Amino acid sequence: MGDNILAINCGSSTLKFQLIETNGEITTLGQERRLASGIVDKICGAAIIKFTSENGERLTENAEVDDHGEATHRMLDWLNSLSSLKTAGLRAVGHRVVHGGNLFTEPTLINDEVIEAIEALSYLAPLHNRPSLMAIRAARESLVPAVPMVAIFDTSFHNTLPEQAYQYAIPKELALKHRIRRYGFHGLAHQYMTERYTAITSKPIDQTKLVTLQLGNGCSVTAVNGGRSVDTSMGFTPLEGLVMGTRSGDIDPSLPGFLARSENVDIEEVESWLNTRSGLLGISGRSRDMRELLEAERQGDSSAALAVEMFCYRVRKYIGGYLAALGGADAIVLGGGIGENSPEVRARICDGMEWFGLTLDQERNAATIGSEERISVNNSRVHVYVIPVDEESIIARDTVRCLYKHLQK
Ligand code: ADP
Repeated sequence: MGDNILAINCGSSTLKFQLIETNGEITTLGQERRLASGIVDKICGAAIIKFTSENGERLTENAEVDDHGEATHRMLDWLNSLSSLKTAGLRAVGHRVVHGGNLFTEPTLINDEVIEAIEALSYLAPLHNRPSLMAIRAARESLVPAVPMVAIFDTSFHNTLPEQAYQYAIPKELALKHRIRRYGFHGLAHQYMTERYTAITSKPIDQTKLVTLQLGNGCSVTAVNGGRSVDTSMGFTPLEGLVMGTRSGDIDPSLPGFLARSENVDIEEVESWLNTRSGLLGISGRSRDMRELLEAERQGDSSAALAVEMFCYRVRKYIGGYLAALGGADAIVLGGGIGENSPEVRARICDGMEWFGLTLDQERNAATIGSEERISVNNSRVHVYVIPVDEESIIARDTVRCLYKHLQK
C-alpha cells in the first residue's frame, strides 16, 4: 500500500477519515478506491465510533472519547489491527485545517514551524483549529517511522476573493492591524462541487460560473467564476452568512454590544449564544436538525416552520445576490447533509426562481437523495445540481500534489 493516503477531516465534534488508494496522482475526484473509512461522532463525551474497511471488517462501538487526539489514536489502532491495512506502508497523511489565515494559501507540508503557525492563528478562530492540531499531534506520536503529513486549509479556496468582496467597511488601520478580512470557509466543499460539476458536464472550468451551496450543520454559499471563488457568505469567522444549525448568520452588527449591555454579560458570552444557541435551534426553540424541524412542521409546530422558512429565504437571497455578482450563472450546486438529502428544502429554496430561468424538475428532485444528479428541467436556463461532497477526496488529492511538488524541489 505504498501510495495510500490517509485523509483526516476534523469537525468541532467529529473526526472522519478515509484511507484512499492512489497511483501517485488523483485525476478524477470522488472516483478513487477507498480501502477504509469511518467516523468518530460526538467527541468530548459518549462518542459513537463507526469504522469499515473495503474487505468488510467493521468496528461499531459506543465509547468515551475525550478529544480529537484520542479519536485519532483509536482510528490508527484500528487500521493497524487489520492485517490488510497496516499503516506501516502509508505514503502520507492529509489533514483538513479550518483556518489558514493569510499565512497559508496552499497545501503545506507539516513541520514544527507549521504546527506553531497554525496554533498562532487560533486567535482568529479559537474554536476551529484546535481539533485538527490535536489530530496532527496524535498522528505524529503514533506513526513510527514518521510519515509525511500535509495540512489542507478550508480558507485557501477563497484566497482569490477580490478586495471588494473580502474587505469589511471598517477603518482601514484596524483591519490591517488585526488582519480583519473575510476569509471564507468550507473551501474544500466548494472546490469539490466546482470540480465535480465540470467533470460531470465536461465544461471547461475557466468558462464556468456557479453558485455552490454547502448546507449541513454549518452552511455557506460561494460565487465561483472560472473555478475561482469570487464571493462567499462566511467571513472573518464561520458565523457570518446563512442561517445555520446553531449559528445566526448575518445579524445587525450592533446586536452583540446591545445584548452584552442589556443582559449584563461579557461579549464572549454573546458570541457563544450566536454560535451555539441561534440559527435553526434558536428560532425553533427545539432542534438544530433540519429533519426534525421538517417533521415538527408537519405536526403543526409554527416555530419549526418559521425556522425552515427563514433558512430557505436567506439561502434564496444569497443566490439572488451572487447571480447579480456573477452576471448570471450556469448552475446552482447543492451539497451537505441538507442539500444532498432534502428534496423539500431544495424545492423551497428554488421556489419562485422561474423568472430568471431556473425551473426544477420536480420528479428528479424528489428522486435524488444522496446522489449526484441534475434536478432542473432540460431547458432550464440556470441548472440545478446535487453533488454530494467528498472533502476527503480533495484532502487526498492535494496531499499527493503537495508531496510531489516537494520532491521536485
Ligand atoms: P455537518 O455540517 O456537521 O457535516 P451534515 O452535512 O451531515 O453536517 O448535515 C447535517 C444536516 O443535514 C442536519 O440538519 C440534518 O438534519 C440534515 N439532513 C440529513 N438528512 C436529511 C434529510 N433526509 N432531510 C432533511 N435534512 C437532512
